Amino acid sequence: MQGNSLKGKTSLVTGSTSGIGLGIARKLAAQGSNIVFNGFGDLKEIEALQAGVRDEFGVQTAYHNADMSKPAEIEAMMKFAAERFGAVDVMVNNAGIQHVANVEDFPVEKWDAILAINLSSAFHTTRLALPAMKARNWGRIINIASVHGLVGSAQKSAYVAAKHGIVGLTKVTALENAHTGVTCNAICPGWVLTPLVQKQVDARAAQQGMSNDDAKKSLLAEKQPSGEFVTPEQLGDLAVFLCSDAASQVRGVAWNMDGGWVAQ
Ligand code: NAD
Repeated sequence: MQGNSLKGKTSLVTGSTSGIGLGIARKLAAQGSNIVFNGFGDLKEIEALQAGVRDEFGVQTAYHNADMSKPAEIEAMMKFAAERFGAVDVMVNNAGIQHVANVEDFPVEKWDAILAINLSSAFHTTRLALPAMKARNWGRIINIASVHGLVGSAQKSAYVAAKHGIVGLTKVTALENAHTGVTCNAICPGWVLTPLVQKQVDARAAQQGMSNDDAKKSLLAEKQPSGEFVTPEQLGDLAVFLCSDAASQVRGVAWNMDGGWVAQ
């Protein structure tokens, strides 16, 4: 779907060099929004990705390489976005990592990194984006949580804690701004086939001596009743809806798009 509902606005999507973040950035650009990309990767590939979005959707783009585990770099990124485009209208907190291990074996540095990247980074971008959003009385903060913001799974202590945390941050941010034109909501995806999940497919295939395809099917069969992956494009369309006027009274929700995972 292409339109101009976000024409002249600027969206900053953290972790948008890959997977869900890239899917969301492309859908926001398709509505006319300028995009500030962020995330790791090969600089030439990131430039090509930006050029593709500029050509396809006729919007402006920029890129900042801030590491979302580092508050000073997040501040630099927010300043860069404001200097480049005036302000951030749509803030999508998407960057995230995963590590899988039982609590007693969970590496302490992985716990700290997951909490910093998957949760604290959203606190920093939110506190820095809000003043300009409130001054213009319009803004959309969209936190990419997970079904793991709503339910748990074994071996994902840090991830589940961080994702439940970001659902809480979403509610409080929504309430504090309920009388303004700034909304804050969370999107809670089930399994999406991105590099983050492909690693878990690979681990399953290796541990259980399965083909890549069988590992995908078994991963889905355990949790996701539809038996199909959610796509970054579908999540991007939900983000576009949350930016729309129709969603101006959607505030503080944790909206799952999960093939039925949480309905069980
Ligand atoms: P991905 O690995 O494809 O992309 C992650 C992005 O985050 C990349 O652009 C990467 O460069 C960036 N990133 C990682 N660490 C960073 C850091 N320290 N600083 C800046 N950028 C960093 O993963 P994805 O599956 O697209 O995940 C995106 C978000 O969606 C994550 O928050 C994840 O928890 C969430 N999510 C994913 C799934 C899924 O099934 N894939 C399901 C639910 C929620």
